[in-house]
Amino acid sequence: MRGLIKQDGFNFAFDPRACESCASKCCAGESGDVFASDDEIAAIAAFLGEDETATRGIYFRKARNGWLAKERQTKRGFECVFLGANGCEIYAARPAQCRTFPFWNGMNERLDWLAQECLGAVI
Ligand code: SF4
Repeated sequence: MRGLIKQDGFNFAFDPRACESCASKCCAGESGDVFASDDEIAAIAAFLGEDETATRGIYFRKARNGWLAKERQTKRGFECVFLGANGCEIYAARPAQCRTFPFWNGMNERLDWLAQECLGAVI
């Protein structure tokens, strides 16, 4: 497991070891937009061993600015359609948006939110 991750330009660090005990908080809770490009959807379909068109139809919805992973409503609020009992079911093929969390543009201005949402954030 990797240690503390830092990235230039961000006023916090991230400890990925926290992911083991946070119950995928960043994939559930408030409704959120998880974007996937055409290439990422193709990669997810390949990972799942499913047809690309079917994958797009089952797991994604078209938005004005691209494709978004569908959500389902649970006791926790909204969850990404790919979130399973043991975490992300497409982890190896998850979109860049998920791979790069919490190092997102504008996150320096949302440190209070990040501290609440991400156990691994070191601020
Ligand atoms: S694709 Fe995977 S990592 Fe990304 S929000 Fe959904 S469950 Fe979480």
